[in-house]
Order: sequence, then structure tokens, then C-alpha cells
Amino acid sequence: MKRFLLVTAALVAAVAVLVGVTLPRRRLSLAAPTDGTTPGIIHVHTNRSDGLSPPDEIAAAAARAGLKFVVFTDHGDATRRPDPPAYRSGVLCLDGVEISTTGGHYIALDMPASPYPLRGEPRDVVEDVRRLGGFGIAAHPDSPKPQLRWQDWTAPFDGIELLNPDTSWRLWTQQATASIRSPKSGAPGSAWYARRRLAVALLDYPFRPAETIAGLIQASDALLHHWATLAARRRVVTLAGIDAHARLDLRDDPGDSRSVLPLPGYEPSFGVMSIHVRPDRALSGGASADAAMVMRAIRGGHSYTAIDGIASPASFEFTATNEHGTVNEGDELGAGGPVSLRVRSNAPPNFTTKIWSGANVLSGDHREQDFTVSAPAEPAVYWVEILPTDRPNPLTWIRSNAIYVRDSVPPARPPTRRPAAASLPIFDGRSAAGWRVEHDPTSLAAVEAAPIVGGAELRFRYGLSGGASVGQVAALVFDTPRGTTPHDRLTFSIRAEHPMRISVQLRGGAGQSAGDRWQRAVYVDTLEQQRTVYFDDLTPVGETHGSTPAFDSIRSLLFVVDAIHAKLGDSGRIWIKKAELQR
Ligand SMILES: [Zn+2]
Ligand SMILES: [Zn+2]
Repeated sequence: MKRFLLVTAALVAAVAVLVGVTLPRRRLSLAAPTDGTTPGIIHVHTNRSDGLSPPDEIAAAAARAGLKFVVFTDHGDATRRPDPPAYRSGVLCLDGVEISTTGGHYIALDMPASPYPLRGEPRDVVEDVRRLGGFGIAAHPDSPKPQLRWQDWTAPFDGIELLNPDTSWRLWTQQATASIRSPKSGAPGSAWYARRRLAVALLDYPFRPAETIAGLIQASDALLHHWATLAARRRVVTLAGIDAHARLDLRDDPGDSRSVLPLPGYEPSFGVMSIHVRPDRALSGGASADAAMVMRAIRGGHSYTAIDGIASPASFEFTATNEHGTVNEGDELGAGGPVSLRVRSNAPPNFTTKIWSGANVLSGDHREQDFTVSAPAEPAVYWVEILPTDRPNPLTWIRSNAIYVRDSVPPARPPTRRPAAASLPIFDGRSAAGWRVEHDPTSLAAVEAAPIVGGAELRFRYGLSGGASVGQVAALVFDTPRGTTPHDRLTFSIRAEHPMRISVQLRGGAGQSAGDRWQRAVYVDTLEQQRTVYFDDLTPVGETHGSTPAFDSIRSLLFVVDAIHAKLGDSGRIWIKKAELQR
């Protein structure tokens, strides 16, 4: 017994020494001259999806962490009606959604419920969120997990998550498990280095949780370059998402609750970092008016990110002035004469402030809390970073949104497609000859010519079965006769009973591509609209022989209603007035 006590005491002493040696520096407490911003947090999961707690408890944790707003982003397809903005425990709660596309996760804020599920290709989800009036954020584009990582750099998303502690955690664990045979050197970047950092973090977490998580945050240079390339052409709001779940899946199996730790908790996570938005006016206490103001600031990029686990509370202002006037971060300024960039902050003495131009440092190592830098008159994208200089792992404390100095001439428009030189009508405007339907055994579909003044339109009726998912599908099909001249696009006029997305597909019928399908999802409104689908813009459905279809092997054109873009149990009618193959 005595020996046991001795061993225990020795162990406790060893752990205490280890913790004492490894503990991250306590966050610096700063005197905060108010900068007019409101601190909050974006990207929080509740128990409505894979988070641990209900919104009320999370709001209370946010209040204890000193936050003024929190944006919930539960996983979903955007068909759930978002909760109206509400103050809970004095914290303004906004309700958004994190949508899973085939090219990564997309966060949508400030929009009503979608009439149909938002799924499928990232470019379509970005378009849908925009049409619904929402603000979309490309989530964790540097996640090591391909299913999560945002991958579409050409879609016109509104904002981008440049920091995400969940991604940092995944990067560390991936690195730590990278190679069993990795050298035991322990140098940064090695598996042993990552293992040591994680082990130390688990040891330190109970004592200084926010500081420990902050110390693990990794920023990606590649991501910064991606953003800078985009920002040279258009505004892209930069944000940090906390991605808080208050649960840690040790085994990557969401169904296995035995391997879930309630870590890191919401409150410690909320102490790690904050988004400071700069509303036009002080918040009034009225939830919907305040929510509109916070959203306007988020949309406008009138915000900066502060890692509170380093120093808190932050105070920061960034302005640019030239002959056209003075603007704040997030804004555009017409090019005109030299630009003076002014930064004010409450950065402590050992911190350094850098002004960046795109992905290059314009002016570095400023130790002052208030300084102005002169920049050339040329268009550029400026942003500011403040870091502590007195610790081994350089970590950004404050990261601003950008100020865009632009030429007044509008940017060149993207090239448009050449007009069609020839077309082949596949609907004669009188009868449904040549058209037929296909559907799974549980669903229904029918096509007929519906009379209108001066002729007829194609009317497609469908009913997907409800209940369990059994591959529900209903399709309107046109079989192209053998020997049809190759065409490169399909143009059609279409409307539907309710707003929806259908999948326009080409299906191979000859040789090795028999049964192969390629698709492009198209939005269909209740008002008739003309749409053109270019065949080189189609993407494969499942595995195909070739990434785009070869027209001479194509036997069918399909207008498909499926369980990706429609709710199970959905039924309705679609009318097509004109349909032409073109080239
Ligand atoms: Zn995600
Ligand atoms: Zn998430």
C-alpha cells in the first residue's frame, strides 16, 4: 500500500512537472478600447445534427465565453425552415445550414427554406443558395478529408473559411498516423512531432483549454494563395469557422457513440476565437433587426477574426484612403492616386503587424498600435495580420478582411459560347411522338401532348414514391434516331408546377458506353425559361467510359427527376414547349 502511494505520488508529481513545462502561455488579458465591433462565432453544430447540445445550452455557453452572437450551421439539405433569429441568454442566435455537395461542404446563411433539397454538384448548390438570397461560405477547403473539403474554385461562392479548428485537428491526427515507420527525429512535419503535440495538448487541455486549442490551429499557405488568386478578380469574404460539435469521434464512425468524447466543449471552443463584425449601428436588442445588421456586416466582409486563446479582447481597425475617400475592411475603393493604409489595434508590445497585398507582404514588422503605410495607386487587395513574435509556432492573432482597390473599368466578362449554327427540333409542337417515360417500380410517370393555343406542349407528370429510399426516379426520355448528326447542346423551354431541379442526361446506347450516363442539373422555375445544356459541361453519373459523352454513342436524352434533387414522395408536372438539339 505504501509503495502504491509512493508510485502514485511520483506519477502525480511527474505529470504536474510535465504540465508545468508544456502548458501553453496563458492568454494575454488586454484593455480593450472599444472598436465598435461585435464578437461572435460562425459554424456551430447543435444536437439537431451531429453536435452535442441543444441551441439554448450552446447560447448559454457562448454568453459565458463573452460572445454576442452565434451562427448555428447544422448539417442538412436546406429544406428545414431555419429558426427565426432570437436572443437566448443574451446571445443573438442565427440559424444557417451546412450543405453536403459532391465537392465538399457549403455553409448557407440568411435564406429561407429551400423548396427542394440542395444537393449534388457544388456549382448548383452555390447557384441555388444565391437564388434563394443566401450568403454561402466554402467550408474548410483545406480539410484533409475529401468528402468534407470544398473543391470547386470556379463557383461564385461568397465567402471562404480560412481557419477551422476541426480541420486543424484532423490535420494533426492525419500527420500523427501518417507513417508508422516515419523517422523518430521529432522534427516539425514528422509523425513523431505531431504525436508529441497531440499528447501534450491532451495533457494541457484540462488546464488551459482555449489556449491549447488555439495552439493547434494551422493555417494553410496553399489556401491563402487560392483566396488571393480569387480576390484579385472578385470580393471573397474571409471568415473563420469554429466548427464546434463538442464531440470528438475517435473512430471516424458517427454511428459508434462509444468512441465519442465530449471534447472540446462548446464553452472552451468559444474561448478560442471570435469573428468581430462591424455593424452599421449598435445592436438594439431586437432580434430580427440585429440579425439583419450582423448579416449585412458578414456579407460585406466588415469583420475580422481574432484568436482569443492568444490575447483578448481584440480591438482593431483597418482603413484605406485615396482621392476617392476612405473605406473599411471588406469594401472596394476605386483606384485613384496613392493609397494610405491605416491600422489601429491594441496589439501588445511583443506582437508584430503585417500588411499584405494578396499573397505577398507589403509592409511587415510594425510594432506600433497605430500606423499608416503608403501604397502605390495600382489596383491591389490589402489585408492585415497581427502575430505574436515571442513563441515558437507563429500563429495569427488577428486577420482582417481585405480592402479591394479596383480599377473603375469593369472587369472583362467571361467568354460566352458561340451561337448555334444549326438546330434540330426533337419536339414537333403537336404530338408526344418519340417521347416516352421511365421510372423505378415504386414511382409513376407519364407524358402526353397538352393542347395550347396554336399547338401543344409536352406535359410530363411524375410521382416519386415516399418512404424509404429505393432509388426513386422518374424520367422523360427521347431516343435519338441512329445516324443523328452530332450536336453539342440541347436547348429547351421549360416550366414546372413548383420550383425544382431536374437532371438533364445523355445516355450511351452503343459499344462500351452502353448505359453510361452524363448529367447537368438544371433549375426549373414556375415561370417558363429557356435553358441550354452544353454537352461538354456534363459530368459523369457514376462510372463512365470517358469524362464527357461522345455524341455518336448517345442514344437517349433524359429529363430526370430523382431523389438527389427532389424530396421523396414529391409529385408534379413539368411542361416543355420547345426542345432542340443544336450545334
Ligand atoms: Zn463540414
Ligand atoms: Zn461543420
